[in-house]
Amino acid sequence: MKKNNQNFKRRDSSPNRVSNFDRQNNRREEKAKVNGGVFVYSKPVSVAELSKAIDVPATSIIKYLFMQGKAVTINQMLDDEMIGTICLEFGYDFEKEKVVDALHFEDIEIKDDPKDLLPRPPVVTVMGHVDHGKTTLIDSIRNSNVAAKEAGGISQAIGAYQKEVKGQKVTIIDTPGHAAFTAMRARGASVTDIVVLVVAADDGVMPQTIEAINHAKAAGAEIIVAVNKMDKPGVRPERVLEQLMQHDIIVEKYGGDIMSVEISAKTGAGIEDLLEVILLKAEMMELKANPNRYAIGTVLESNLDKGEGPKATFLVQNGTLNSGDYVVVGNTYGKIRRMTNEYGQVVKMALPSTPVSVIGLAEVPAAGDRFMAFPSEKEVKDIAEKRKMAAVEASRGNSAAMSLSDLNNLVNAGKIQDINVIVKADTDGSAKALKASLEKLSNEQVRIKVLSAEAGAISDSDVLLASASSALIYGFNVRPDARIRQKAEEAHIDIRLHRIIYELLEEMEDVIKGLYKAEMVENVLGQAEIRHIYKITHVGTVAGSYVTDGLIKNDSKVRLLRDGVIIYEGALGSLKRFKDDVKEVKQGYECGFTINGYNDIKEGDIIEAYELVEKN
Ligand code: GDP
Repeated sequence: MKKNNQNFKRRDSSPNRVSNFDRQNNRREEKAKVNGGVFVYSKPVSVAELSKAIDVPATSIIKYLFMQGKAVTINQMLDDEMIGTICLEFGYDFEKEKVVDALHFEDIEIKDDPKDLLPRPPVVTVMGHVDHGKTTLIDSIRNSNVAAKEAGGISQAIGAYQKEVKGQKVTIIDTPGHAAFTAMRARGASVTDIVVLVVAADDGVMPQTIEAINHAKAAGAEIIVAVNKMDKPGVRPERVLEQLMQHDIIVEKYGGDIMSVEISAKTGAGIEDLLEVILLKAEMMELKANPNRYAIGTVLESNLDKGEGPKATFLVQNGTLNSGDYVVVGNTYGKIRRMTNEYGQVVKMALPSTPVSVIGLAEVPAAGDRFMAFPSEKEVKDIAEKRKMAAVEASRGNSAAMSLSDLNNLVNAGKIQDINVIVKADTDGSAKALKASLEKLSNEQVRIKVLSAEAGAISDSDVLLASASSALIYGFNVRPDARIRQKAEEAHIDIRLHRIIYELLEEMEDVIKGLYKAEMVENVLGQAEIRHIYKITHVGTVAGSYVTDGLIKNDSKVRLLRDGVIIYEGALGSLKRFKDDVKEVKQGYECGFTINGYNDIKEGDIIEAYELVEKN
């Protein structure tokens, strides 16, 4: 740590530290406006806002979108593409102003002056099939050649550590496996420069090896192959390299540009070579960062420490993080009260590619959250507050779900070229057969891209890959468990389950031709008991009720039951708690509602709320 300090001066009082965004830009008015027939906007707008700005009734906009196969509500936020097509449809041109905005610092592409850039260590993740030796390798690198000054070795598990190789540093993320990596990628964070792909020589390429290749490629990371367990008798590393070729991993020995090393994570043989190859690759990648700016980076791990409060491991990706800095992280903020390294030592500053454990945050951030340092506390509080609000807004207007019906509508509107699919099947044979058959359905307009086709149960990593790539998941003779099902639901991932191949293919064929019709089934949401009736002029009968079971939503369909007999079926007109309109009311709460066009409600009646959802 220490020896790097002299290269970079602390800048508390120094005017040299560059802010991460042009602050003048940030002060700019953010309001959308129409200038001479051009709708100029800088952030997402709702149907209502756009309607007002271009003076077109909201109903016309909703109707137009509906004709395009998109069902939206008046308060829904519109994406750029929707805004563009609506403007053109109603005779306006449009322009998105690019505001470099601290609120969206994830998206800021930091442009540093090349003369400010200095080399930074590579960030390495170890991936590969289960039992191929990832954990052993990570430990073995950690303990290899422990220099005297590191006596005692790395003592803290903070999610990553740095290793010095020939005087240069390498940062190793120490959670093996794909879950962490994919979780980050699904959240748009990419921290890894190099993926070390571990393949056991005695086992060869296996499903998770392929999954790792897919993830590494999708994240744009470089791959280095480590053929492991070379200490085992009779192993044939060439076989592994040949198998890898079938997945477009062509090593140098066979004329490709992927480096490979033979190692034994257990005996330590080849580990030094691997580290040197990592350095070589990193040199070729010319990884650089500007240490003289406020830090920006990603949360690797986080937890709530009983004594110290919210605790997180930050990986600094650009700039320098200093003890005492104010940071926004995810939707929370804080002042870095203390930073420690992987040896548990307190450090005052963390340079690019350095992992540090920090305390001083107001809340626990999530792994994959981005952080950024700012000059003042007021600024970080303000930004965190706004980000929190924006997150709530975004989740309300979230319409990115890619159900079969959505895809069907997009096909009909000529709005989609690729449909991404993940296949999970009971056997490898049927997975591969389905992949081939699905891809063959592609036509001139729409291509089906099978991102992966494997045998096995639908897993977390499938759901994450699906959400990172807007894919739908086909399960053939497999079923997701309740936990996975819930995760998929939360991420709006459509999981389609089939037991008969031609039914699955017919379904997809319909989608590709825009002929798919979802079969709707009823999903009962809950029940409420009517306790008081209020007759209100101009409003009608308001039923003061108590939710006895489940929940009631303001857009629920309802049936009215009297003594167990259905006496009316319709939809809710309004749903309130006290004086406020609400989206839903849960079991154990009181509410008031009206039924659309129906007033003959009596005390003691029961309403059952339900919604129609796509079958499957
Ligand atoms: P992971 O699931 O990929 O993290 O694999 P582990 O690191 O847990 O290793 C799985 C098993 O393989 C353990 O029993 C290790 O001791 C063993 N193993 C790992 N690397 C080697 C190696 O280089 N040679 C041999 N013989 N065994 C190894």
